[in-house]
Amino acid sequence: MKCDRCDNLAAYSRKYSGENFCSSCFSNSIIQKTTRTISKYNMIKRGDIVGVAVSGGKDSLSLLHVLKKISLAHDFKIKAITIDEGIPGYRDEALRIVNEFCSSIDVEHKVYSYKGLFGTTLTENLDLRGDEKISSCSICGILRRRAMDYGSDNLGVDVIATGHNLDDTLQTFIINLLAGDTKKIGWMDPDTSSNDTRKIKPFCEIYENELVFYAFSNNIPFQSEECPHMNEGIRTEIRNFLNSLEKSHSGIKNNMYKSITKISSILRDQDQMEWKICASCGSKCTGEICSVCNTLSNLRSK
Ligand code: SF4
Ligand SMILES: [Zn+2]
Ligand SMILES: [Zn+2]
Repeated sequence: MKCDRCDNLAAYSRKYSGENFCSSCFSNSIIQKTTRTISKYNMIKRGDIVGVAVSGGKDSLSLLHVLKKISLAHDFKIKAITIDEGIPGYRDEALRIVNEFCSSIDVEHKVYSYKGLFGTTLTENLDLRGDEKISSCSICGILRRRAMDYGSDNLGVDVIATGHNLDDTLQTFIINLLAGDTKKIGWMDPDTSSNDTRKIKPFCEIYENELVFYAFSNNIPFQSEECPHMNEGIRTEIRNFLNSLEKSHSGIKNNMYKSITKISSILRDQDQMEWKICASCGSKCTGEICSVCNTLSNLRSK
């Protein structure tokens, strides 16, 4: 079968659109699609310094690769930020891969650790939990958001880009829906152009399996080891469920994504948050004490 865009043989079939691509035209289609998403949601402004959150997985390294290419043709710069949670045996491989990859494409890279910022690693905090039901990923997520904010201030970036893809958005939507958390659904709107610190997801309209193919066809090295806490929550079950739906109904994920962005922007407009200052650390938050101080003091009091 031939590529729809050139005379090469096709290597990838995009089922939901019926298009066939050779590796090179496929990669160009991902770059074009990402550029369109960035412009549709005003994600990056002229002259911005974009901090790319790079974990060492295929999505974040592919994002770095794609944004580096787009930045050469548009007026913005990129820097890479990695958060080291302090999970023994997991983060070391990733740090080496990210370091080498950033040097190879000439991108400044900085690592911020939970230990350095909060005085304890994720594993040390999880050990303090006892019988507490709070999940590993909830604690990790709270600390990661603060670590990213610290990293972006420290590196002087205007916007933080993460490698979240379309599948991640669908999974998060269902998780929030099942948890009855409509507030968080409002935070999923991809248009963050009016926020102080913009957090953008340039891959939010791209299927996860296409990023796997992008990483392989561009020889992007990525971490093979999964986080040991990865399968503790419900996310993997939802991911498998959505993949099986897509298999028999091509394009269903795209339809769901469109519905989610509409619902999210309606909820976001209705829910205007009132910001306060954390009495303990001075960070911006919605209560008297921020979620980081709250979580750490709860764990330390055990
Ligand atoms: S899977 Fe959970 S615990 Fe592991 S790095 Fe991701 S958020 Fe943190
Ligand atoms: Zn081609
Ligand atoms: Zn605080």
